[in-house]
Amino acid sequence: MPKPSNVLSHPAESADIAAFRAAVLDKLAYSFGKTPDVASLNDWYMATALALRDRIVARWLKTGQRPDAEGRKRVYYLSIEYLLGQLLFDALINMRLLNVARAALADLDVDIDQLRKLEPDAALGNGGLGRLAACYMDSMAALAVPAYGYGIRYENGLFVQQIRDGWQNELPERWLSLGNPWEFERTDTEYSICFGGSVEYVGDGHGNGTARGLWYPDERVLAVAYDTPIAGWRGRHVNTLRLWSARATTPVQLAAFNEGDLVGATAPRAQVEAISRVLYPSDATAAGQELRLRQEYFFTSASLQDITRRHLEQHGDLTSLPDHAAIQLNDTHPAIAVAELMRILVDEHEHAWDEAWRITKGTLSYTNHTLLPEALESWPVPLLNRLLPRHMQIIYLINKAHLDDASAKGFVEPGMLASISLIQEGHEKRVRMGHLAFVGSHRINGVSALHTDLMQKTVFRDLNRAAPGRIVNVTNGITFRRWLYEANPSLTALLVNTLGERVLDDPAELLRLKGFCDDAGFVEEYKAQRRRNKQALAGRIHQLTGVRVDPTALFDVQIKRIHEYKRQLLNILEAVAVYLAIRREPERSWVPRVKLFAGKAAASYERAKLIIKLAGDVGQVINNDPLVGDKLKVVFMPNYSVSLAQCIIPGSDLSEQISTAGMEASGTGNMKLALNGALTIGTLDGANIEIRNEVGADNIFIFGLTAEEIDDRRRAHFTGRQAASPRLMEAIKSIDDGVFSPDQPDRFKPIAQALLGYDHFMVAADFDAYWDAQRKVDLAFVQPGWWRSSILNTSRMGWFSSDRAIREYASEIWSVPVVES
Ligand SMILES: *Cc1c(COP(=O)(O)O)cnc(C)c1O
Repeated sequence: MPKPSNVLSHPAESADIAAFRAAVLDKLAYSFGKTPDVASLNDWYMATALALRDRIVARWLKTGQRPDAEGRKRVYYLSIEYLLGQLLFDALINMRLLNVARAALADLDVDIDQLRKLEPDAALGNGGLGRLAACYMDSMAALAVPAYGYGIRYENGLFVQQIRDGWQNELPERWLSLGNPWEFERTDTEYSICFGGSVEYVGDGHGNGTARGLWYPDERVLAVAYDTPIAGWRGRHVNTLRLWSARATTPVQLAAFNEGDLVGATAPRAQVEAISRVLYPSDATAAGQELRLRQEYFFTSASLQDITRRHLEQHGDLTSLPDHAAIQLNDTHPAIAVAELMRILVDEHEHAWDEAWRITKGTLSYTNHTLLPEALESWPVPLLNRLLPRHMQIIYLINKAHLDDASAKGFVEPGMLASISLIQEGHEKRVRMGHLAFVGSHRINGVSALHTDLMQKTVFRDLNRAAPGRIVNVTNGITFRRWLYEANPSLTALLVNTLGERVLDDPAELLRLKGFCDDAGFVEEYKAQRRRNKQALAGRIHQLTGVRVDPTALFDVQIKRIHEYKRQLLNILEAVAVYLAIRREPERSWVPRVKLFAGKAAASYERAKLIIKLAGDVGQVINNDPLVGDKLKVVFMPNYSVSLAQCIIPGSDLSEQISTAGMEASGTGNMKLALNGALTIGTLDGANIEIRNEVGADNIFIFGLTAEEIDDRRRAHFTGRQAASPRLMEAIKSIDDGVFSPDQPDRFKPIAQALLGYDHFMVAADFDAYWDAQRKVDLAFVQPGWWRSSILNTSRMGWFSSDRAIREYASEIWSVPVVES
């Protein structure tokens, strides 16, 4: 069998190795002023990254010119988050240079795997939404779609999670502290972003409010561009991720400085630059503070100024913008783009309102990511009025035209008009950002079949009646480059060896694995690679938590943000119930299991933080009970991140995707795990449904209430106490009684009481079905059929490649061509 690294790059020719070695030494000398004998590991990492970046830049400069020459349409992806992770191996694999770099560094006595560990994750995102943006950047480059990603260059990414005494502590993240070798600061690309002030109407004398306005802002912030080249698969195409950093227009207030007020002289600067200081750590909830609105407008305005400037340079005026630019809004964080683009067109370039509206709608499209009420963004009208007075006027004008249009179509009932209005009435009026994005877009997409269906029946039901035909579905995807080739090189090598190298370019080739799932030799090799990955994961678990686990046990993983709707609690309760059962019958033959949790809780989400503590406390008791031994372990791995996910996923047997049906828009963790051969235990939620359709009902463990059944139950006001079986009652009672918190017996009472009360997330209602599904898992894991199912999961996950998703965006939403792989 070929060595994994040989599969993932060209055979290293000695001339290539020598050239790369010389390039690294050059960087070491001329960029860092170091000789090899005094270079630190970080120096080697930086020099290697810069040498690699040169290769990427050579392609970048070429592909940067191509769309102009061909007049091709560009895609602009606006996202307030990019959860990129580490970039060194990603870029080496895409550029097919892993072998060359490894050999070149080995010649210099440097181990590239050591350098890999040194690179901080670029964690400019919270979870699924930001990771999706990162996967899409990779796929757009792979498919040679000319694209820019736009976002914010947060100085501090998502907090580092430390677990102390089982509790989550948040530490500041410092990904830039040793320098960032991937980015280019563009001091020549900066824009003014304005806030506050007042507006003067130029007016047209006909009482027509849609004429130009003149905005006199009273605050100005500079947005400075930082570009990171994103190299696509096989280095065929390179796109740009352009992240904006906030800079004060005046670095110090000299008058104050001269009077000796050193702090006061730089305070305004610190305040302005706070805009790009930290990522808001909330996931699936709207952040709500003024600074967040400033962040949203800051990156949206900078991006639109950049896009329109580029278009004007090439095409003279903005009339043809929709023919050359497709702007995708990743959720509502950049929804202010609707008003900002109108402002640029009407106020700055003197387009007539209706023409400006045609251009805006023709250019923008919007991806909805959630139906959770607490996550639907809306901003108070008084706040928008103060911060963005001209935009508030424009939103009112858009709303008037929108409501007039609906009335003209016969939608005149007040309830209907109130429901589709951009303004939510109440004691404080608010602007509904989802509605604004909907009205200003030519396409609105959900992220899985179920989610898109529910979207049409709930949040956008009435808007979809008033403006039908705009909603489409694009089920999320993941990039196989990171989540298979990079995360799991041994499985990748086996696949290439079995199916040929073509599988790396066309995931449909994976379907041919079906012919091997009964081939004893292949199955043995498939098992062997999982065994090795599990041994490595067991090592990592011990290193991070001190817990020793049996690498032959079933590795049962739930890795994702900690959120009540994701129901880590259901999983913990099952662990407790199994524990109690083992204690009753320790002699029975139990299928050894390791329950692995990882995930961060939003710093302000107290209940989620208590759930982390519960997982830790339950683990403490179970892991130290001699009666239990290796039959059951419960571990919480700290600081979940892209790089930790890459380490956990290849060693996972069972993937927990157990959200309350109707609440997870898509999920992408479910796809990563199934692709790597984990079997899913899951509800009929998000993309789980499509995963079941692909892998087949025999190769997945589906349980629980459907979204519809949950709707009915909510209406019937069942309590958890009514739903709970004796087994569940016993588990809840043990938590309630302090069995897992002897030092503070009432610590988990609030959790127990919530479960027995309204049980909003239907944990009690789904528990028995979950328990039964888990017992089926136990039986299946010790059968040879497990491996057949596992192989079929890998085989049938090709459709979930983000390349497929990007092809759908390209044809259904953006109207841009893609290259065939
Ligand atoms: C994929 C991924 C997610 C999303 O996981 P879900 O299970 O879909 O919620 C979150 N965080 C990281 C680091 C990921 O890689």
